[in-house]
Amino acid sequence: MSDADDRPTAANFVRELVIADNERGTFAGRVQTRFPPEPNGYLHIGHAKAISVDFDLAAEFGGVCNLRFDDTNPDTEDTSYVDAIIEDLAWLGYRQGEDYPEPLYASDYFEQLYRWAELLIERGCAYVDEQDGETISAQRGGYGNPGVESPHRDRPVEENLDLFRRMRAGEFADAAMVLRAKVDMQHENMQMRDPVMYRIRAAEHHRTGTSWPIYPTYDWAHGQSDAIEGVTHSLCTLEFDSHRELYDWYLDQLREAGELPHEQPRQTEFARLALTHTMTSKRKLLQLVTDGVVDGWDDARMPTLSGLRRRGYPAESIREFCSFIGVSRTNSRNEIELLESFVRTRLNRLALRRMAVLRPLEVVITNWPTDDAGDPIVEHVELINNPENSEDGTRTAPFSGRFWIEREDFMAEPEPKYFRLSPGREVRLRGAYFVTCTGFEANDDGSVARVLVTCDPETRGGNAPDGRKVKSTMHWVSAAHAVGGSVALYDRLFSAEVPGEATGDVLDDLDPDSRELLTDCKLEPALADTPPGAVVQ
Ligand code: ATP
Ligand code: MG
Repeated sequence: MSDADDRPTAANFVRELVIADNERGTFAGRVQTRFPPEPNGYLHIGHAKAISVDFDLAAEFGGVCNLRFDDTNPDTEDTSYVDAIIEDLAWLGYRQGEDYPEPLYASDYFEQLYRWAELLIERGCAYVDEQDGETISAQRGGYGNPGVESPHRDRPVEENLDLFRRMRAGEFADAAMVLRAKVDMQHENMQMRDPVMYRIRAAEHHRTGTSWPIYPTYDWAHGQSDAIEGVTHSLCTLEFDSHRELYDWYLDQLREAGELPHEQPRQTEFARLALTHTMTSKRKLLQLVTDGVVDGWDDARMPTLSGLRRRGYPAESIREFCSFIGVSRTNSRNEIELLESFVRTRLNRLALRRMAVLRPLEVVITNWPTDDAGDPIVEHVELINNPENSEDGTRTAPFSGRFWIEREDFMAEPEPKYFRLSPGREVRLRGAYFVTCTGFEANDDGSVARVLVTCDPETRGGNAPDGRKVKSTMHWVSAAHAVGGSVALYDRLFSAEVPGEATGDVLDDLDPDSRELLTDCKLEPALADTPPGAVVQ
């Protein structure tokens, strides 16, 4: 297996850009970024890439990266998501106090954003529109289709101010009117065709409660929040490419009015992370949770950080993967196997090994010694905890005259090249003894009930003094000492390489057999008090 740490990493064009900025003295050498999740779902593997870009770049250049919740939509946001995001970030290795200061919230800027909106109205750059949403969106036109100016576009400043203040005072019903920026209804960039800045929404916000009957749109809040905080490099994914012009327009208005506390942030877009057999739309992930397709956001099949954590992925392997794939401006899809290879490399190096039998078959040693009372002798054999790291030491496991093996590790009539247990064949029990199969007992239906073996007492520890070899080493659990347990086996949630490619709906490609629950498993006693992250063999 190749060592993931030794692989060369791909280029990161954002890093090159920051280096160039620092050489030129742009932003006076300051580097400030932010990771801006909307608290409307859990973090997923795609966010891990954005986190790595934002936090690691700031750290590399001695800068600051804020965690800012872009919480402008009261309908979908919730404090439970805020808490989960903070927890998942910490698990990934980014902790409050060490890697970022107090979390920030766009909702903390609602007052400032409101005052700036009034300023834009006063400068003739925004107006209240009483048309409904459908009309506004139809009038926006499209590529090659001219936009239609609202009949309210040239409303006098005083009237706009009065209406906007009354919107804020809660005098109007939801959707009765909106505040729009007055940019250019014929602009070739649709984002610039008088975008909405404020909506009336009688909804309770997770932080501001019911104190605001109006809410800023994401587009009005985002760039200004960056500017308030002094962000220099505003990094986001490619879909915000066309929004950059609008963000700059807003900031230009505020700069001209002498309102910007810091230099204007500069937005740079990078490609989203996409993985085969994986989907990272928060809306669809939420649907999987609410439809009960999965157990929750942290179901071990989910591509969420909490799901990957439950699946046993070490946080370091996710970070290594993110830095390995690099940052570019070209959308592409990485293979899930690449991520898995980082997980495997980490686990191979770190994980404690334990034995568990998932589908048990009983094996009886017919020549096992008994004590004076006729009870089988119990021995304790020594097992290596981690063949990759001798510092992880050894443990002992009880071994006696009866033990469990996997059903698939025995065949009454072996196929060619089947080297595990079958009549007449000798195998090694990991860390214990060589045993030879002498026969088996069958149930009435012909299925195997119990396998009979003899044990070579000279092979204790799993080696024969005469140097003879066996072709198979099998795991086992002592029947008298096994701990019963349930084990869930997880497969990919989506069987299709590109979920949704064929039908347009990712949910069509869900694999109904992605989880198998085994309830009659036999675990090595030590597994009961082993910390999570062990590899079962
Ligand atoms: P969705 O579109 O599924 O709702 P989002 O992009 O709106 O996701 P946010 O909470 O707004 O989710 O994302 C926070 C940050 O993470 C943003 O800067 C966003 O660009 C980035 N991000 C989200 N998904 C990915 C992804 N797949 N790859 C890289 N960055 C991502
Ligand atoms: Mg978003």
